[in-house]
Amino acid sequence: MSILVMKFGGTSVADLDKIKNAATKVKREVDRGHKVIVIVSAMSGKTNELVGWVNQTSPLYDAREYDAVVSSGENVTAGLMALTLQEMEVPARSWQGWQVPLKTNSAHAAARIEEIPRENLDAKFDEGMQVAVIAGFQGLSPEGRITTLGRGGSDTTAVAFAAAFDAMRCDIYTDVDGVYTTDPRIEDKACKLEKIAYEEMLELASLGAKVLQTRSVELAMRFKVPLRVLSSFEENNENSGTLVCDEEEIMESNVVSGVAYSRDEAKMTLISVADRPGIAAAIFGPLSEAGVNVDMIVQNISEDGRTDMTFSCPTDQVMRAERAIKEAKELGEINFQELVADTDVAKVSVVGIGMRSHAGVAAQMFQALRDEGINIRVITTSEIKISVLIERKYMELAVQALHDAFELDKAA
Ligand code: ADP
Ligand code: ASP
Ligand code: MG
Repeated sequence: MSILVMKFGGTSVADLDKIKNAATKVKREVDRGHKVIVIVSAMSGKTNELVGWVNQTSPLYDAREYDAVVSSGENVTAGLMALTLQEMEVPARSWQGWQVPLKTNSAHAAARIEEIPRENLDAKFDEGMQVAVIAGFQGLSPEGRITTLGRGGSDTTAVAFAAAFDAMRCDIYTDVDGVYTTDPRIEDKACKLEKIAYEEMLELASLGAKVLQTRSVELAMRFKVPLRVLSSFEENNENSGTLVCDEEEIMESNVVSGVAYSRDEAKMTLISVADRPGIAAAIFGPLSEAGVNVDMIVQNISEDGRTDMTFSCPTDQVMRAERAIKEAKELGEINFQELVADTDVAKVSVVGIGMRSHAGVAAQMFQALRDEGINIRVITTSEIKISVLIERKYMELAVQALHDAFELDKAA
């Protein structure tokens, strides 16, 4: 039995016609002899609406109830997809996360998948079911509560099912026809890539390219799941879309393969903290306990035993971060003059495996930004990426300038 996993994102199931269009693609694969596991997202805009309702009701919400609310969008599309397939005479049924059960840890709103037992689905496939439609994004905690996998988490549901069921491939259907050198919505010269290495895709995703959730790429890399990104709105064949695969399968890698951006970054600075051993631990310990995802960190040189400490985190975690830092101050663990939150920044990054063997990429990046008069606030680098924090109003300009500077319009 060859199993294919097909995942449809929010725009691909945005209304009943689009669900029908997606179901037609599923039926085609069933007719080719595959058993299919379909993963669906909520209708586009739905999850945002649900998140908005939670925030309005309770700004520092209980994450267990957040999950109870925001997971519901996927329940609707899973049922509708199963019904649509049944109308097409395809034996199908829907499954919510807890019914499978897709077991996760208890990290609500960012839960990690621990196990997907096969028995329940296998039993139904044995009885003649052709398609299992799974509500993406959601799972079950050891405490028996509904969890969600973080925004964009249906991608991760899809790859996890592909790994658990030894699927031949995991196809991610979305509103673009593949992975591009940068977001085609903000750079019309962006080029579609035929293939991209897991590692590069992992960096691009974690730096903001939301076409795939980071964790889905991590899982695909670990379990060697062939992952393909393709359009729900086009006719496809075996060569359509972009294949995310091992580095060895790509003949020649570019120095820079892509540019990513993240709009929702915030820069927080603790002004005048004591420069003493343990100060970083005293600041970042409480932040980590509060569930704040700290990204970039800069400590200034100290003067008279005091220094400024700057870090970045997602904009929607600023309140949590402020609360954690203020509590640590009240407990006497840290002492500072002022805490300044700047939510008017964005992160722009260039990514490429070729950077490992090429010097000068950072210099080229900084020159391109200088030529546009863009000031860099914070810089971080790793083996295959360079990121800068800049004023948000320059974000698109920076992406375009870097896309030009590294000649990505000639990529692919
Ligand atoms: P879905 O709802 O199907 O999960 P998403 O909106 O999460 O779709 O992801 C697809 C979007 O990702 C595209 O519409 C595009 O704007 C954006 N995107 C960002 N970076 C890239 C990139 N490098 N290549 C392709 N799409 C990208
Ligand atoms: N519906 C969820 C979200 O918008 C999960 C997903 O679409 O992947 O984040
Ligand atoms: Mg998505």
